Amino acid sequence: MQNPDPHTMILPGATLGMLGGGQLGRMFTLSARTMGYRVIVLDPDPDSPAGQVADRHLLAPYLDRQSWQTLESECAAITTEFENIPVELLQHLAKRLPVRPGAHTVAIAQNRETEKSWLRANGFETAPFAIVSETDGLEAACRATGFPAVLKVARFGYDGKGQVRVANLNEARAAFAELGSQTCVLEQLLDLRLELSVVLGRNAAGQNACFPVAENIHRDGILDTSIAPARVDPALAARARAAALHIAQQLDYCGVLGVEFFVTTDDRLLVNELAPRPHNSGHFTLDACLTSQFELQVRALCNLPLGATVQHSAAVMINLLGDAWGGSTPDWLPLVRHPEAKLHLYGKREARPGRKMGHYTCLAETVDGALALAEAIRAGLRPRG
Ligand code: ATP
Ligand code: MG
Repeated sequence: MQNPDPHTMILPGATLGMLGGGQLGRMFTLSARTMGYRVIVLDPDPDSPAGQVADRHLLAPYLDRQSWQTLESECAAITTEFENIPVELLQHLAKRLPVRPGAHTVAIAQNRETEKSWLRANGFETAPFAIVSETDGLEAACRATGFPAVLKVARFGYDGKGQVRVANLNEARAAFAELGSQTCVLEQLLDLRLELSVVLGRNAAGQNACFPVAENIHRDGILDTSIAPARVDPALAARARAAALHIAQQLDYCGVLGVEFFVTTDDRLLVNELAPRPHNSGHFTLDACLTSQFELQVRALCNLPLGATVQHSAAVMINLLGDAWGGSTPDWLPLVRHPEAKLHLYGKREARPGRKMGHYTCLAETVDGALALAEAIRAGLRPRG
């Protein structure tokens, strides 16, 4: 694939708009500013992790028309870090400037109903599922998936929130009510051998670049550990990367895309979900790859040639949740004294249980070496007394 036409590239010095101000937006902003771009962040939180490091923070709700005007008049292109961004905002801005990823792909990914339906319609295998929009539909949905199953809200679920596991029709009824009787997806609960993810970038010229596959371990529904490269048969890793690239092509995707996969105990590779943005499991790329997923997001947004996604060290990333704070900041000495451990904190002032406060990545020649260091550090991290 040829490099993009230089006339269509947005070069350093230009101003980029970031919709959403969380840690993903922060790491994008840092990468973009490193490359000499200006960044304007729109986020309603005065203390937003990305707003803190942006050239300008528009402190306003996403539907604030005045902020839309500022973005339109000052930015050369717009991206997002948050799939729940109102689609009307993306559609509005797209009339005047490049918005990448586009509204139609964000709309698919922000709703489990459209996401799973799109995957199924396009030939990508998922867990057996059925859509439930009213109590009456539950029985048929349960027949379609069987038990055990997991009921997930179609909109605004994250980190395992908005999901209930159910073992029979009565539990499914109670779960549907508990979730507010809103549209849900009922999925067969699978026996998982492991979970994988693939992060890739694709620019407007159709060039793509894909990182090595990560292996993900969740605790209480939240990503805890990512291991890269995944400890799987290279043929399976190649299939996951090919499927992720195929999804990006079918969507005519532009930007960074994260694709989560399940590997079942009977060795099927199923697509779990799509993230139309950098992914938590791709944080290892910051320290272990020639180009990070955030630089890739800048490059895809600006229609630059994509950077090299080669991994130079085995890596294990551990999320740091608010639980580790226990009322005061952890003592970082057990971490910072290791030269192969890299600490990333997101600037969030309030540590709440389950809140992603930061992460660290351990680098080594082998995955086993990186895992051993990551676990040794975990055992040593304690709230400061
Ligand atoms: P995140 O924000 O971390 O991506 P999420 O809230 O969007 O999570 P899912 O990815 O759907 O939710 O599910 C979270 C985790 O719950 C999965 O990574 C997996 O460990 C488990 N899980 C979800 N669905 C199933 C299933 N059908 N069978 C087995 N395990 C499942
Ligand atoms: Mg998920």
